[in-house]
Amino acid sequence: MRIGVLGAGQLGRMLALAGYPLAKTFVFYDMSGSPSAGLGEVMIDRDNQYLADFISRVDRVTYEFEHLPVEVAEKIAAEKPVHPSPRALQVCQNREAEKTLFGDLGIPTPEWKIADSAESLQAAAEALGCPVVAKTNTEGYDGKGQAVLRSPEEAAEAWSSINHPRLIVEKFVEFRREVSIIAVRSESGDLAFYPMAENTHHQGILRYSIAPAPGLERHVQEDAERYIKALLNELNYVGVLTLELFETAEGLVANEMAPRVHNSGHWTIEGAMTSQFENHIRAVSGHPLGNVAARGVSCMINIIGEHGDIERILELPYAHVHLYNKGERPGRKLGHINILADSYEELVWRVKNCAQFLPGSPEFESSLTSKG
Ligand code: AMP
Repeated sequence: MRIGVLGAGQLGRMLALAGYPLAKTFVFYDMSGSPSAGLGEVMIDRDNQYLADFISRVDRVTYEFEHLPVEVAEKIAAEKPVHPSPRALQVCQNREAEKTLFGDLGIPTPEWKIADSAESLQAAAEALGCPVVAKTNTEGYDGKGQAVLRSPEEAAEAWSSINHPRLIVEKFVEFRREVSIIAVRSESGDLAFYPMAENTHHQGILRYSIAPAPGLERHVQEDAERYIKALLNELNYVGVLTLELFETAEGLVANEMAPRVHNSGHWTIEGAMTSQFENHIRAVSGHPLGNVAARGVSCMINIIGEHGDIERILELPYAHVHLYNKGERPGRKLGHINILADSYEELVWRVKNCAQFLPGSPEFESSLTSKG
């Protein structure tokens, strides 16, 4: 079976690495002009001139990023199975559509309003009560196109700095920590839920994911499973879906979802019985799902901007290094390291030991390290 992947970055690369043992082959379709997957066949086609050729060469199609024209996915879906469905793509591209769907399905979100001018941004900030977070309704990622307003008077400045015609304005959530749940649904509707991860961001970019999330109460995992199950079934979804959430004193609040394998699930490569990448390939290929149980406890450390001393990290017996074959550039995701341990105590020690060889890495902060 030949799988077509829309996008050709590191997520596509890791999908292929997980698919080869199942005898899948891959054709990547890149619209950015700078593919980095580095394996499989890559078609570079910025203007969709060769789309028909791509479709004729593959049996099924999936995607590894969501900022691609929905019409392209729909065109393909008319001829070959596309998983997840173009509708999932459409919802995930638009924060207003996404938050509306969350609300319809009973998934808690921050209170939100839409703003289409500096004046309506100010009015939204007044109505919701500051602080609020203003975000572009479309095209935002990794915290880009966002501003926090401490008072409604900051609206004019925020409006011009974001410079986008339509914003979603959310009440600022006083969260304990950020968490995510990754789940997978098969063609026949079977579901599997990974243990949730605790995620630490720095300057808008994910730095550390710990899984299973330490100290997470069983009912919180169950709430998250209920929410993501509702989304998977509503969207008649096939493949891996990620839901990012805030954990608060009152329970979980949904932030956003991604219709794909996710950075906060990279720990599953060695840390789970079946990785998110293999399970996505299984699902989109029509196979049964694999076991999602964790093996011990894991922490994923992102390598951002500079590689650090990889040779020293390779000497650590508990570190699994994954490099994406990309050049160094500030803020760029170059790879990640999965650290496994038998206890959280051991995990903290190992992560700190490893992170010292990544000079660009912020200090390891998590619920395991914070005092009190
Ligand atoms: P997003 O692009 O929506 O994932 O937002 C990027 C980051 O901004 C999140 O990971 C949070 O750290 C923070 N953030 C986003 N929305 C809110 C909110 N409503 N309240 C508090 N923090 C937020």
